Amino acid sequence: MKIAFHYLGCRLNEAENEHIARDMVEAGHQMVTLDDQPDIIVLNTCGVTGEAMRKSRKCARKLAAGGPRMLVLMGCAVDLMENGENPVDDEDVAAKSDDSVQIIRILRKDKPDASKIILSAISQFLSNQTQDLKETAKYRLRMRSFIKIEDGCNNQCTYCSVRIARGREVSYPTQQILDEINHCIALGEKEFVLTGVQVGAWKEGNRRLHDLIVDILDKTAVRRLRLSSIEPWHTRPELWQLWHDTRLCPHFHIPVQSGSDAVLTAMKRRTPIDGYLEKMAAIRAEIPHVRISTDLIVGFPGETDQMWQETLSFIRQAQFDDVHLFRFSARPGTIAADLPDQISPVTKHKRWYEAETLIADIRRQRLNAAIGQPCEVLWENICEKGVDKNCWYGYSKNYLRLNRWFDADVYMRGNVTSETFSECDIEPNIKYCVG
Ligand code: SF4
Repeated sequence: MKIAFHYLGCRLNEAENEHIARDMVEAGHQMVTLDDQPDIIVLNTCGVTGEAMRKSRKCARKLAAGGPRMLVLMGCAVDLMENGENPVDDEDVAAKSDDSVQIIRILRKDKPDASKIILSAISQFLSNQTQDLKETAKYRLRMRSFIKIEDGCNNQCTYCSVRIARGREVSYPTQQILDEINHCIALGEKEFVLTGVQVGAWKEGNRRLHDLIVDILDKTAVRRLRLSSIEPWHTRPELWQLWHDTRLCPHFHIPVQSGSDAVLTAMKRRTPIDGYLEKMAAIRAEIPHVRISTDLIVGFPGETDQMWQETLSFIRQAQFDDVHLFRFSARPGTIAADLPDQISPVTKHKRWYEAETLIADIRRQRLNAAIGQPCEVLWENICEKGVDKNCWYGYSKNYLRLNRWFDADVYMRGNVTSETFSECDIEPNIKYCVG
């Protein structure tokens, strides 16, 4: 059968999709895109903000309305239903779909068996078919493989619904991770991203994340390995010192969430601003051309003008290569949802705009600083619609996007070449250099 995967939100969802995709392919099914009339669509939803919930619901409705024969819904938005919210309502989805649509929901407690649940639904479906729908398959969702090494979180960040949706920390065994990577390498994958709700919380007895990375470097033939994101309290010298091995990609996404210690305390974040800046400086001193990005929440309850000014001054000091900026949205079931002094939407918008303008300036300066740097690019695809078909994009090890115009029709997907950044450009939502 033809199966398409779609996700919203974080790379953990992408990792889960890839994992299930591999199981489906091994069972003889074919991976296709949403445009290829799939028999099954797996939608991995996101519930991190109110906006993400809205998008998840909208996306589920749209996919059901397209008449796939089976729609599988999973991920945080679906899990949060257990807490009294109903973001992807069956009736809502079914109202827009024709009768042939079968909707399967996979909740957190079912997740380890997600592939089995889907395969069993497929075999039931096939038992009613006369035609053999099996096809030889090939999976590849993107150029990099997302390897889930951990799930869940034991922290108590007061704004966070992900920890509610995902539950407590669980680490996957080393051997399982090595087997998955080796399996993907045999399929031709070149780059791997270790993902989890908190990648840095991975443990196995006394072994921690840096021990796992050493094992991966020693026992597999990975060409490029990166971390999806890592909390500041898990970012330690024994970890970043491993980055002398050039297979480790010099890009760290380290969520900070606010530049004010008072706000960080109210959020129950574990690393104060000074500690965060010290780690940034140490990483930059140790790893050439490293890029550091972060997440920041604007308008947390109780954030005064002075606290906001502290955040702006922190952004100037930190000089992030990129910042994912979110406006605070109260998530049901979290402590922050019931805090006094909620910030008005107008103030949130004003602060967001102020920060975004500053961040764009710094981003451009840092991109400009990359001009002339040599880099190794893993080519992914032709550029967005409307751009010359000879224009390809790929990513450097330090996660800079590179666009390059090739002279003639070439197929670059999966190739790795040495390039030099020659100029930079920033379009809305696309930051890139040109080779
Ligand atoms: S570290 Fe904080 S923000 Fe991240 S998942 Fe855990 S509770 Fe949520």
